[in-house]
Amino acid sequence: MEKQALLYEGKAKKVYATQDPELLIVSYKDDATAFNGLKKGTIRGKGAINNQMSNLLMARLEKQGIPTHFVRELNPRETLVKRVSIVPLEVIVRNLAAGSFSKRYGVEEGTPFGKPALEFSYKNDELGDPLLNDDHAAALKLATREELAVIRAYALQINELLRAVWASCGVVLVDFKVEFGRLAGGTVVLADEISPDTCRLWDARTGEKLDKDRFRRDLGGVEEAYCQVMERLRGSL
Ligand code: UDP
Repeated sequence: MEKQALLYEGKAKKVYATQDPELLIVSYKDDATAFNGLKKGTIRGKGAINNQMSNLLMARLEKQGIPTHFVRELNPRETLVKRVSIVPLEVIVRNLAAGSFSKRYGVEEGTPFGKPALEFSYKNDELGDPLLNDDHAAALKLATREELAVIRAYALQINELLRAVWASCGVVLVDFKVEFGRLAGGTVVLADEISPDTCRLWDARTGEKLDKDRFRRDLGGVEEAYCQVMERLRGSL
């Protein structure tokens, strides 16, 4: 499969057309941004790690009944995926308080929840990805009620499956963001990526942060953390 026209270039990935109108090639970059693009940098080796980690996790989820856009890894940085139209929602699942949740509601990071908490944001950089509920998403016609129910159910299942994978590597899945897309026929599938850019991953023993918060918060050891979680994941599969 060959790359054709560049269709889209985002903060962390490029997307190319292929000879097959139903398939695209995603190419992962080492570029990193945070705070809606205000902070910019490079995390050496991130593109390859995010590509390979996302593929391992999506293949695992697919086996366990979650439909995904993943088709095949082409090389360390590039993957063949099914073409989808992205549902413009950031679907966030939280197991412990952290990040914007802690800030917004004044709760200490690491505070556990009885049950996972799911939230939606409207994927819109100009508006700063505002938080919204199901009624808002339906009013804005971002997704139908049926799609929202499917997305919610998949996101909670994904949380349980990923929590188990990470627990077996001695890592706590604190929270994560996923995106969904519609195939040409309308079927909703998991799309985008699952990586230390999109998950909060804490060492189960020490609580050390092993994700993009090291970049966001200038904690140092960013590359090392990405490498370490990747090695732990490979070791557990
Ligand atoms: N997240 C993401 N992209 C975004 C916003 C959040 O991948 O644009 C992920 C983030 O890495 C974390 C989870 O979603 O794992 C929850 O993020 P939060 O809402 O706490 O926002 P943040 O504190 O990262 O701004």
